[in-house]
Amino acid sequence: MSSTTTSSVTPLDRFRLDDHVVLVTGASSGLGEHFARVLHAAGAQVVVTARRADRLEQLVGDLPGAVAVTADLSSESDRERLVATVLDRFGRIDVLVNNAGVGEKMAVENESVDWFRTAMEVNVTAPWHLAKLSAPSMIEHGGGSIVNVASMLGHVGSTPVKQAHYCASKGGMVNLTRELALQWARKGIRVNALCPGWFPSEMTEGMDTDEASQAFIASNSPIPRMGELHELDGALLLLASPASTFLTGQSLIVDGGWTAR
Ligand code: NAP
Repeated sequence: MSSTTTSSVTPLDRFRLDDHVVLVTGASSGLGEHFARVLHAAGAQVVVTARRADRLEQLVGDLPGAVAVTADLSSESDRERLVATVLDRFGRIDVLVNNAGVGEKMAVENESVDWFRTAMEVNVTAPWHLAKLSAPSMIEHGGGSIVNVASMLGHVGSTPVKQAHYCASKGGMVNLTRELALQWARKGIRVNALCPGWFPSEMTEGMDTDEASQAFIASNSPIPRMGELHELDGALLLLASPASTFLTGQSLIVDGGWTAR
């Protein structure tokens, strides 16, 4: 008899995260705040982090049982303190959602070396470091899932929206995802990248109302609009949950078809 007939677990049950401890970075706004709500709704014990404590406190007020830990992810010691705090409190990390990120529109001529370094620190070094710090607990508890929130701009260039630091960092995150997946596949850790196209958030502030931006998106995107946050839910839950136990090292690009050209 096949496992599908003997199991009482339904296909939708596999998307649930009951008893999973999930750490979501960059949860004080935008995608990260939304992701925390979705993962909590799927049953997860959610820990949220960012620098803005007031925003995190508001969020956990809406999510019974959720915990906030403020941290500046550009700081090595804050990253260590963050993971140590979660492990101290819950004893494990099952899912790490590396969502925090920075990016600003500017021509390369105006990018300073300091800003480029900051973007690489927050967008690549911090996800790498948090993954490295979380992995021993995942391995000890039989496995885990790491979801790196990269971008479609980790796969294609961005101009006329100029942001070399961002494209470099997101491309780095995409290939970091592949390499970590290979190193940890036999240890039970899956590592995948969730790569959004254009979505409204503080990072893209104004694009959803600005006529020129709307026209740019409408004429370049096969689905001629920005995404809505809920349109990332399926991809997030798939990658985070046991629904994707045979899926690792991949990029799931949710971009209305932008990169299909
Ligand atoms: P957002 O609203 O600006 O959110 C960025 C988050 O990152 C905030 O919660 C911010 O929190 C946190 N963060 C930034 N620097 C940090 C630091 N040094 N330490 C700790 N946390 C830090 O932008 P978003 O669009 O939701 O972005 C979330 C992720 O999605 C990013 O990785 C972004 O690249 C990716 N993404 C977004 C889009 C889009 O169209 N919106 C598309 C593709 C990919 P604090 O300021 O409170 O620290």
